[in-house]
Formats: sequence, C-alpha cells, structure tokens
Amino acid sequence: MNSSILTSNHHSSRARNLILLIGDGMGQAHRFAGQLFAAGREGRLAMDRLPYSGQMGTMCVDPSSFVTDSAAAATAIATGVKTCNGCVAIDPMGQERATILELAKASGRSTGLISTCQITDATPAAFAAHVPMRAAQSEIARQYIERARVDVILGGGAVHWYPDGQPLPPQLCWDAPWVGAGKEGDLVARARALGYEFVASEAELRDYLARHACGARPLLGLFAGQEFFVQAEEGLGAVYNPPVSLADMTDAAIKTLSANPEGFFLMVEESAIDRMAHRNNAPLMLKGVLELDRAVQVALEFARQSPDTLIVVTADHECGGLAVAGSLDQPYPYEPGGGLLDTLLAGEDGPFPVADSDYGFVVGWATTGHTSAPVPITASGPGAERLTGSIENTDLFDTLAEAMALTEAVARP
Ligand SMILES: [Zn+2]
Repeated sequence: MNSSILTSNHHSSRARNLILLIGDGMGQAHRFAGQLFAAGREGRLAMDRLPYSGQMGTMCVDPSSFVTDSAAAATAIATGVKTCNGCVAIDPMGQERATILELAKASGRSTGLISTCQITDATPAAFAAHVPMRAAQSEIARQYIERARVDVILGGGAVHWYPDGQPLPPQLCWDAPWVGAGKEGDLVARARALGYEFVASEAELRDYLARHACGARPLLGLFAGQEFFVQAEEGLGAVYNPPVSLADMTDAAIKTLSANPEGFFLMVEESAIDRMAHRNNAPLMLKGVLELDRAVQVALEFARQSPDTLIVVTADHECGGLAVAGSLDQPYPYEPGGGLLDTLLAGEDGPFPVADSDYGFVVGWATTGHTSAPVPITASGPGAERLTGSIENTDLFDTLAEAMALTEAVARP
C-alpha cells in the first residue's frame, strides 16, 4: 500500500457529518418483524444493510432500577455517562455533562434534532438540554433555541412552545383543538426573534426549502400539538398518520444542515416504535420501524454523495419484550411447540404476512414496559468499524466523538 492511499484512508476516517437515527424502543425483534413484513425472509431493511453491526447494552445506574428510560439512555449516548432515570444530560451527581451535539456545534458544525413525538421529549432533549427531570419540556425548548442554538428543530409537542392557555394555530390542530401549555412564555415568538424560520405544516416546510435552499436561517418546524400519532391498543383509537413523514423531515434537515462546509450533526428519532410497543400494538409499531427505515434510506442517499458521513442506526432501549414466532398454522413437528395451541396459549399479535411468501408470523409481548435487553446497532461511514461486537451505550458516545474528532474537547473528570 503506498503512502497516498494511507493518507486518503486517514482522511476518510474522520466523519464530517454524523446522522444518528434512533428507533425508540427498537430491539432485535422489532427490526426482524419489520424485515419479515416489508422485505421477507431473504430481504433486509435498509438499516440492516449497513456494513457494520453489533449489539449495545442499555442498562442505567438508577438506584431503583437497572431498566432504563429514554432520558437516561439518551444521556448515555449523548454524553458518555450513565445516569438515573428521568435525568436529561445530567449525571448521577447532578452535574451537567457536555453533549455530542454541543461538542459538534463548538467544532463549527451545524446541528439538528428530529422526532415524531414531542421534540422536547427525553430522547432529543438529552442531546441539547440539561434538566434534572424530563417533564420540564418548555425549559428544554428554551434551552434548544437560547443556549444550544440547535440549527434545525423538527417534530411535535407544539403545546410546550405556546403560552399556557393560548389556542394553537389551525395548522397544528389537525388532530385536536390544542391549547398552549408552555411555562416559558411564547417560545415560537422567541425563536423568531432569534432568527429562526418557523413552519407548522408540510406545505410551509416545502415553501421554506424553496426559499432557503442554502440553509441561510435556522429552522423550527412544529407539526403537531403533541405526537404524530395517537397511542392506544389496536381498535381503540390508535392512529399513526404523520403530518410530515420522518423521511421528509430528514431530507429537509439534511438539505439545510449540509450547507455548512464544516459538516453537521443530526439526530433523528422515530418514537411510535416505543409508544406503540407500550400499548402492545404491533401493527403501528411495525409502521414506526418502516417509517424509520425510510429515513435511513434518505440518510444513505445523502452519504452516497458525501461519503465522509457516519450513519448509525440503533435504539435507546428495547420496549415490550417482543418475540417473533411462526403463525398459527406452521408447527415444526420434531419438537414440542410452535403450533396452533402453543401460539394461542402464549398470547399473540397478528398474524402478519411474510413478504413475498406464503408464510405468516405472529409476535408476542412480555411486557408493556421497557426491558434491559441489548439493542442492535448498525453503521456505515468513517468510524463505523468500531461499532461491532458487544458495546455499551456510553461507548457509542466515545465512537461518535472520535469519528468527528471531538475527543480533545471532551472534558473528563
Ligand atoms: Zn418508552
């Protein structure tokens, strides 16, 4: 190998851009069920075609539970420190910890956060805010725009941005007549005063992109009063028809953020996977997995043009204790179990068709809560080769920081 190849390899080992896609609650079985449903036995989801894969431990250090919530899990990924449940980028001693988004911003990169639930919910919050309790969503919103100065903010939870009691604009009342519940005044007006462009519908987002193709202004897009879906069991009012698709939000964020020649950090969260798993609602959980997979495809499309982009797809934790089994009519006869009686005894959700086959599958749930099972992690791009084998969620922070050459900036006690 000659030296010029070594030099170019060295340069390509630095990630200018990082796109971190988190399926909230998405364990191995959620991904596998998504694969069976959408791609079949031989097919693979886009997220499972990335060249590097491993599994990631998610347990927290809460004195009362080793099962993590999204706040502690996201804090571990975002700051490299395991903490107690409910804490947002604050360690068990109560100290604020620098986040990967803040470090990326300090390096000159642009930054973005996307979610299909409240953009101030725990997972995105741990990347750009510091509060001891995740419920402080208006304070989290205030920190996004006044302190972290996140360049692109897209998601739901508009009620936390409008003053208490103020009716929300009609574009945001597509699912219910929402009224503001904010505790920090009018944060939409505050964002505008700080230079943000504000959009509240898919049409307004498209219009923004047409007018600001170069990402000249920071962008705040709130598309739902609360979440992009209604959480419920099947047949009891559950709905997941996003006002803007996760793929379209990801595309808009990349178009805006990639105008910065220094690069960008973008976190994309699909939240319905977790919320529907809490309700043991497999059809809409699957919809969430596929919604995330389309966002992964958008990220991969960008990385084809910008190969110095690290793409990571993982979860903060598993939710539901999900298992996948053959459908009712498919016993395997040489051992007990697997047939009609066993599936009925276990309690199932389905059956669902396996794509491009005559098979079917069912899923079973062990809990309506989170579990401590490790979650899959897949990756491509500079630094992805470190995300193999069995790692911890705090190791992910180290890898992301190193890939973006932020390690010198990381203050370790
Ligand atoms: Zn959850």
